[in-house]
Amino acid sequence: MTSLLPRVSRADQSAAPGPLTAPAAVELFRMQARRRRARADILGFLGWLSPVAAVALWLADGGASGFSSLAGAATALGIVAGLVGMDLVLLMLLLAARIPFIDNTFGHDRAVEIHKSLGKPALYLLLAHGIFIAIGYGAAEGLDPISESISLWVNVPDMWLAFVSMVLFIAVVVTSLVAVRRRFPYEFWYVVHLLTYAAVATAIPHQFSVGGLFAEGTWQRWYWLAICIATGAAVLYNRVIEPIAATFRHQLTVSRVVRVSSDVFSIEMTGLHLNELAGSGGRFFFWRFLAPRYWWQPHPFSLSAEPVPGTASAPGKLRITVRNLGDGSARLARLKPGTKVAIEGPYGIFSTAARSRNKVVLIGAGIGITPLRALLESTPFEPGNATVLLRGHDESELFLGQEIMALCQTRGATLFHLTGPRSPGPGSWLPQSAVQAGFTIRSYVPDVANADVYVCGPASWASNVVQDLQSAGLPAEQLHYERFDW
Ligand SMILES: Cc1cc2nc3c(=O)[nH]c(=O)nc-3n(C[C@H](O)[C@H](O)[C@H](O)COP(=O)(O)OP(=O)(O)OC[C@H]3O[C@@H](n4cnc5c(N)ncnc54)[C@H](O)[C@@H]3O)c2cc1C
Repeated sequence: MTSLLPRVSRADQSAAPGPLTAPAAVELFRMQARRRRARADILGFLGWLSPVAAVALWLADGGASGFSSLAGAATALGIVAGLVGMDLVLLMLLLAARIPFIDNTFGHDRAVEIHKSLGKPALYLLLAHGIFIAIGYGAAEGLDPISESISLWVNVPDMWLAFVSMVLFIAVVVTSLVAVRRRFPYEFWYVVHLLTYAAVATAIPHQFSVGGLFAEGTWQRWYWLAICIATGAAVLYNRVIEPIAATFRHQLTVSRVVRVSSDVFSIEMTGLHLNELAGSGGRFFFWRFLAPRYWWQPHPFSLSAEPVPGTASAPGKLRITVRNLGDGSARLARLKPGTKVAIEGPYGIFSTAARSRNKVVLIGAGIGITPLRALLESTPFEPGNATVLLRGHDESELFLGQEIMALCQTRGATLFHLTGPRSPGPGSWLPQSAVQAGFTIRSYVPDVANADVYVCGPASWASNVVQDLQSAGLPAEQLHYERFDW
């Protein structure tokens, strides 16, 4: 166990920078954690309420009377499945819309996780909708479900669009299954995923033109129109309009690319109004470098330094640090100064926005160290209340290690460099020497259960860290974990 920097004494506390005094920050953290929990409860409640509301629309229209016959019961089940399925699809779109209120409440990762978890239930409900409607309508007309489906396609306006929509939904969900997705490049998955918008657009017309529930003049029609339009507007604003506006507002330009190690480099940019991004240290953006061969590929990268706002005479500065992990990221090392940059973000809550406690622990490995560097720079803490643990095979793998050491020195954080070969046994995130000595997270941070802990690094390593933290009694809401994979 190597502690590179001893805890700073109270006498040295004047060195601590930060926008807030520590007691004010502690109160702020308690309050923001309470508010975030309250917002999560409200959003969770609204999420559950929306499918219930969809069924209530149908009940208020006397839909339950359909259960008086077998054909009517199949049709009724089909309608309910369609309503709830479509409602889940709208919820999925909202969760993927990168709406700041949702992102700041759950975090980007969690919002994407919930989005993914709704994919299969939505598809099953939409399939059940098609099957039950074909059975119900067919039974009422004396046709088998297949003949009824053909008749619906041929004779009922907008119905062929609904069939197209179903095929698109199946394609999107199947290509998103982890086992299938891993076989294809990210771009393929992305393009197929864009078909979701076509799937929703083709599903909507028959909802208003077929059946009486959303007939003209009904309040149910207004409700359904309102949620469809609100969802479309949220997606359009947050995924298209706001990123374009942010790109024009900040006028980001690459100023230089600096090598950090053989396969890691920092991209420094200048821009305007970067004071609006202050407090984003550790959060990520999608970056699109506007040059031939680069512009079509947006990459998620975290800030590796807190934005420098700039002045009237000098532009502000932003920095990301990138590891060559594939063709696209390797090419970025050759970016020319002067290249314009389009951005979407900032996203995620791997930042001070997730703090709930006075103490903070930052644990990073590999390229995952770099967002922790940005967070360490800006997140408020009293000297002695922060611990930084950096893991790498050797010192050269502790990217931005010198900057982190200097920050720990000025801010009064305790720093550990955990270098050396891996332990051969399963489950450890520490070097072999530390494992042999019987060290756990508590050996470095005895009261870790009373801190906010930020973890960023390779997935299997990070899951071992998380297990160690859980064994040390760290409550789930104090664990903040940023994933770099998709
Ligand atoms: C929240 C977050 C923050 C990240 N921060 C950093 C960082 O600070 N520094 C760093 O070096 N790496 C970071 N990464 C990982 C980085 O985005 C990928 O290593 C990089 O995009 C790989 O691109 P590639 O073209 O070289 O690789 P490929 O595997 O060939 O990727 C092909 C395509 O997939 C896209 N892609 C790859 N991974 C993701 C992903 N996770 N989400 C969305 N699209 C993806 C790429 O942008 C590219 O368009 C982060 C990832 C995430 C999710």
